[in-house]
Amino acid sequence: MTARVIDGKVHAEELVAKVTEGTAKLKQAHGAVPGLAVVLVGSDPASQVYVSSKSKRAAACGFHSVQRDLPEDTSEADLLAEVERLNADPSIHGILVQLPLPRHIDSGKVIQAIAPHKDVDGFHFINVGKLGTGEAETALVPCTPAGSMLLIESALGKDLSGKTAVVVGRSNIVGKPMFNLLLQANATVTIAHSRTADLPALCRTADILVAAIGKPEFIKGDWVKPGATVIDVGINRIDAPEKGEGKTRLVGDVEYSAAAERAGAITPVPGGVGPMTIAMLMANTLRAAEQSVTNA
Ligand code: NDP
Repeated sequence: MTARVIDGKVHAEELVAKVTEGTAKLKQAHGAVPGLAVVLVGSDPASQVYVSSKSKRAAACGFHSVQRDLPEDTSEADLLAEVERLNADPSIHGILVQLPLPRHIDSGKVIQAIAPHKDVDGFHFINVGKLGTGEAETALVPCTPAGSMLLIESALGKDLSGKTAVVVGRSNIVGKPMFNLLLQANATVTIAHSRTADLPALCRTADILVAAIGKPEFIKGDWVKPGATVIDVGINRIDAPEKGEGKTRLVGDVEYSAAAERAGAITPVPGGVGPMTIAMLMANTLRAAEQSVTNA
């Protein structure tokens, strides 16, 4: 079997088109423009790239897009004050503080300071709690697992009754919310991590296998159940001497070509889950703006 490739770029473009349309409708019906504020502290090059692509996407969707670039030595108190200003600003519906933050700032404290209804990353305890108690409809859900879920739906439909899912990785950003989304869609879910015994055997039981580990090509092709849907969240940069001296390339957490021989459907890296993350951020911001109009 050769797997169908789930093209994240195509699904992300479709989602962004829907968001752009929804933005125009919201403006027409209520005169409201979704506002997204992205806050960057310091000058980490990877974070700068992420933040500028988020701001550009937001502007392209028709949002009011604000970027706050704060110096590396910004104090925790000053960052919290900035978050408070954005919480109080009625033109802003979504606030994202780019992680990681410099070491002298407590990320948890900053995340919990964001108003839950503006927490478009979905990391606030209120949103985490809603998702964990089956209230995803009113929660803002973390973008990467929410985007992964749309890709799973594109392959298998919305109802995963009778399907077995294994999520490898238990982070708050990916693994745990992924677990909850799959459970809510009626899959029978197991979450695995570095202390799991016989991971290959567990993976071989999965109709849906989600890898969110951060280790290049860790999941081997023969760990994949024939016909399974494989969602590779991992983004790892490895050396690529075949492309020339000093060159690198991106790979996922799954040994792609061997896994594609057995899977029914699989996401590539790059071009799978990655593009969905930013698209979901736009969808969350529109949703937050729509909810603010409804609750006004
Ligand atoms: P974390 O480092 O927070 O979590 C990694 C998880 O993998 C942990 O739960 C860890 O287990 C588990 N793990 C590590 N080693 C093993 C092992 N040998 N066997 C089984 N499980 C193991 O990573 P994130 O969740 O933040 O990210 C995971 C990957 O997803 C990374 O490659 C990251 O770059 C990528 N990512 C991609 C995004 C996108 O937009 N596509 C967005 C966010 C992340 P334990 O808890 O026991 O330590």
